[in-house]
Amino acid sequence: MDPKALPYKPNPKAPRQVLPVLPPKVRAKSWEEVALGFTEQDVAIEAQRCLQCPKPACINACPLHIDVKRFIRRLAEGDAQGAVDVISEQSPFPGVCGRVCQHELFCEDACLIGKKFGPVAIGSLERFAADHARLAVTETTPGAAPQPTGKKVALVGSGPASLIAAYDLVRKNYRVTVFEALHRLGGVLAYGIPNFRLPREILHEEITRLENMGVEFVTSFIVGKTASLDELFEEGYEAVFIGTGAGLPFLLGVPGENLLGVYTANEFLTRINLMEAYKFPQAVTPVRVGGRTIVVGGGNSAMDAARWAKRLGSESIVLFRRGRAEMRARLEEIEHAEEEGVQFHFLAAPVALYGDEQGNVREMECIRMELGAPDSSGRPAPVPVKGSEFRIPVDTVVAAIGQAPNPTLQKVTPQLITKRGKIVVNEWGQTSMTHVYAGGDVVRGGSTVILAMRDGRAAAEAIDKALGAERAPEEQAREEVQA
Ligand code: FAD
Repeated sequence: MDPKALPYKPNPKAPRQVLPVLPPKVRAKSWEEVALGFTEQDVAIEAQRCLQCPKPACINACPLHIDVKRFIRRLAEGDAQGAVDVISEQSPFPGVCGRVCQHELFCEDACLIGKKFGPVAIGSLERFAADHARLAVTETTPGAAPQPTGKKVALVGSGPASLIAAYDLVRKNYRVTVFEALHRLGGVLAYGIPNFRLPREILHEEITRLENMGVEFVTSFIVGKTASLDELFEEGYEAVFIGTGAGLPFLLGVPGENLLGVYTANEFLTRINLMEAYKFPQAVTPVRVGGRTIVVGGGNSAMDAARWAKRLGSESIVLFRRGRAEMRARLEEIEHAEEEGVQFHFLAAPVALYGDEQGNVREMECIRMELGAPDSSGRPAPVPVKGSEFRIPVDTVVAAIGQAPNPTLQKVTPQLITKRGKIVVNEWGQTSMTHVYAGGDVVRGGSTVILAMRDGRAAAEAIDKALGAERAPEEQAREEVQA
């Protein structure tokens, strides 16, 4: 169908459609997905808010350069599958990214009508497309996976950085194996982000799609322990991408941190999300949540931990050393946490934790802060106010103040140049080792899903250039014929 023939009447003045969500009272006792997604009627209005700009800034603002204009046009025409096909040219994860990408920092920030009428809800439209095409995909489950015949590439870690590299490489006929240390695939998408934000069946389906394309997955395999990088090369892998993420949590560094009931967000969320502690006693891994939980931090991990604590029956308080405007979490998660009754104490930081005779945490001593000149993060620095210490009773403490790269592989691979634990790479993700690339949080420190994906894509392109240049002539000829 020629889209130009269709009546498309942009209506940017229509109000931005509000994403329907479960009522906060229901959420407090449930781990069902909070956002319900747009209805067809919402989409009919929201898609028409797009101006279909001749030079759409949203496409360049998306780190993956998804053709936002074209997929929205498809949706406006009532063609969800067509919209997903457009997204899939660049991304294998419309369902995941439609839910967790920080659209407000990228495509929606660049949307032309945004300043005046509020940006087009690109994220919610992406999610709608994925969910509606998803049903179609489930009904026509693909047959046996194709068997790529190209060179072998190993991807270490199964987070978004490696997964998009796998997607790009398998589409170029490389034989791709993803090695994951944990027993489940997805990286933070599986162990960090709660299922009330990202249902696991969505993640599972989008990863299965990669499997159906011929990507091989090996779980419970720690590169650096189960096998070294050298051993992977000996096994015939001709390039390796390291996407091992940032799973080493920063500690609060205050006295009393070892008391019972004090967690890092990493442990707290892994126990709940990955080991399903919320189903205890059916699931064997418990998590201890007392009457009052204080979560320290202002990012996505802090919101996720605080919202879980609330769902597990605790009074939940977020303690953040700066103000609301400086929080790094997705805006939607902050708003949802507020609606759910999570309390926020801004401009305060812990200085000590005190316990009872059994070693359980009982009190947190905090100090008030005021905002000073911007620091290296570009945000106003928190400055302690002398003599402003105060105490709060507490039963559970969760430190969600950031994390550093997982160090296992770097420790046994001294040839990899690192800086403060992060692997050093050039703009193509090339490390100090030949045919070894890296990207995502292991290079950036804690970042975002979409930037990790951009790194994975850049590295896949560089790997293809490096290995493609060495391709056998007959292989190259066959690819040209297929193209
Ligand atoms: P990861 O997702 O961390 O995946 C790395 C994988 O490598 C892990 O599965 C790990 O087990 C595996 N691994 C590590 N070492 C080895 C080894 N030696 N051998 C084999 N495997 C190994 N970003 C957003 O954009 N939106 C959000 O809503 C959002 N929410 C977040 C919530 C939480 C709780 C956290 C912690 C982060 C969140 N982020 C969010 C950030 C985002 O998830 C990360 O930036 C992104 O997942 C990084 O992707 P990655 O592929 O680099 O690594």
